Amino acid sequence: MDYSILVDYYERLESTTKRLEKTYLLYKFLKLVPEEELESATLLVQGRVFPAWDYREIGVAAKLVIKAIAIATGYSTSVIEDKWRDLGDLGVVAEELIRKKKQVTLFSQSLTLKKVFDNLQKLASLEGEKSVDLKLRTIAELLTSAKAKEAKYIIRTILSELRVGIGEGTLRDAIAWAFFPKVVGIFFKCPHCGSWIPKSTKCPECGKELSLSFKTEIQNFNEENTLRINSLEDIKNKEIKDYDFILANDERTAREVYNFIIEKVQEAYDLLTDFSLVVKEASKGILALENISLEPGRPVKVMLAIKVKTIKEGFETVGKPAQLEFKYDGFRVHIHKKNNKIRIFTRRLEDVTHQFPDIIEAVKNVNADSFIIDGEAVGINKKTGKYMPFQAISQRIKRKYNIREMASELPVEVNVFDILYYNGKSLLKTPFEERRSIIESIIKEEKGKIVLARKKITSDEEEAKKFFDESIRAGNEGLMFKNLKAPYKPGARVGYMVKYKQVMENLDLVIIGAEWGEGKRANWLSSYYIACKDENNNLLEIGKVATGLKEKPEEGLSFEELTNMLKPLIIEEKGRLVRVKPQVVVEVAYEEIQKSPEYNSGFALRFPRIIRLRPDKPIEEISDIKRIKELYEEQRYR
Ligand code: ATP
Repeated sequence: MDYSILVDYYERLESTTKRLEKTYLLYKFLKLVPEEELESATLLVQGRVFPAWDYREIGVAAKLVIKAIAIATGYSTSVIEDKWRDLGDLGVVAEELIRKKKQVTLFSQSLTLKKVFDNLQKLASLEGEKSVDLKLRTIAELLTSAKAKEAKYIIRTILSELRVGIGEGTLRDAIAWAFFPKVVGIFFKCPHCGSWIPKSTKCPECGKELSLSFKTEIQNFNEENTLRINSLEDIKNKEIKDYDFILANDERTAREVYNFIIEKVQEAYDLLTDFSLVVKEASKGILALENISLEPGRPVKVMLAIKVKTIKEGFETVGKPAQLEFKYDGFRVHIHKKNNKIRIFTRRLEDVTHQFPDIIEAVKNVNADSFIIDGEAVGINKKTGKYMPFQAISQRIKRKYNIREMASELPVEVNVFDILYYNGKSLLKTPFEERRSIIESIIKEEKGKIVLARKKITSDEEEAKKFFDESIRAGNEGLMFKNLKAPYKPGARVGYMVKYKQVMENLDLVIIGAEWGEGKRANWLSSYYIACKDENNNLLEIGKVATGLKEKPEEGLSFEELTNMLKPLIIEEKGRLVRVKPQVVVEVAYEEIQKSPEYNSGFALRFPRIIRLRPDKPIEEISDIKRIKELYEEQRYR
């Protein structure tokens, strides 16, 4: 396939911001790609030559690209740099300069997608002394054979700045449209140009205005190669890929069928985390998508939790009895093992194997040939042996050098709570309680290195409350509630597990200062300095709050109302800042109390928001620093 075809689609994708149009373009592009090039084309269309989680990268900086453009066009690097400054995009610079040069060369061979892909991948593999030179030659060679527009996207891909705006959801939908039948009534035949298109007010193909309805579509439908169904059940466990259309009698079923197909593609992506592999499987059919399995070494998305506000709600969501677990405050890790090779991935699928030699060491004892285990790595304070908050160890994730020192400085303990794959078999469909017994049987606990997440199986709210308190006392964030019979659903927030965190007690604080807003808030005081008190009723500042108020008075306590209350209290004005007589008491909610040198209380609130005015509270009764210290300590016993 010619690279120019892809380039044409890049241009069209770049020219629209509408998701539906982007999906349609991607779908049309995928339909054009020959089978053997599906994988590389799917990567390239995302501006990649490796999947996001792959540790390999092109590894070429702008400086080298400038040199390559110079070789390919004959312009000096300083001209190119000037242009870059003007245009802000080296791709566009290359395009312009190559266009000027190419007017003379009439016959150049066309560049294939394969050639571009192979060469860009090659850049990643070049290492060693001569690699810079080889990289330069490879890029210059590509640019020399490229037409102006092609050069623009080659450069952008090299620099990982494709900028055509394709999200995960867009690509997922385009794959579903490209490889599976069109569900009639979700897709429509354009009455003007006859193309099959998704529901829209304007045909993405011919641009004409449309007014589409399910009923008329079904009535007029007379295409061949159609699977007629009565309910969603009719397509389950069935290969549907060879049909062109699926026809359901009613709109609800049509929507269900469409969502079912989309969900299959999404599930495949959650398992493979690489659209180029998803496309390959999708082209084989829906059963191939359903049969995708896990592969240790290839990251898989983590299962996510729903948030609940009460213990009761926790039980209601996951059912009784439930397994409760401590909710540790660290970072999620999936640890993979196969053929004695261990790899560690974060929740964002970053490969952090290299950064955690201590975790590798810790899982050596796990009694299994292959596995994917799920857990939380929590920082341990070396002196006290207690857990540390996530922020304290977050630096380990990005660390590139002095890894060993860092590991002994900031050790982590892995709290294992699930397993997805064990000795050659996927456990995704195995009920949670069985998965838990497996981890219990294969993990030899070693305090400070690897342990099982603390659990309690119960139906009793009182017992849950006690377990929650125990978790908080041990320095954790709260509890997880888990459904004992549930499968493991990568990437999904389906309510098989829920999180229950501590709800922080609101504070009553007094406003001691404020700041005039900007733009449409210019006439209002729009952020407020708040204070608590000490035992002698001295005021101590504890931060600034700018959220919780409404723009329109009819929606609740508004900026205007609060501004009007504060204006007569102003005692000093400096630029946009004002100091006010401490009189207005507000109730403030927040996520967490943090230590802070910035305010004289020594504390700051994370994500503070004003809940309401407390005209009933005299200043003498606002929250005092002693209580705030207590709340801070209660958050976690560090
Ligand atoms: P969100 O889940 O909304 O994206 P978040 O990233 O802040 O928010 P949390 O609200 O902290 O996540 O809750 C989910 C996370 O809790 C999990 O991803 C996991 O990292 C962590 N966690 C700690 N202990 C457990 C446990 N026992 N079981 C499952 N997850 C746990």
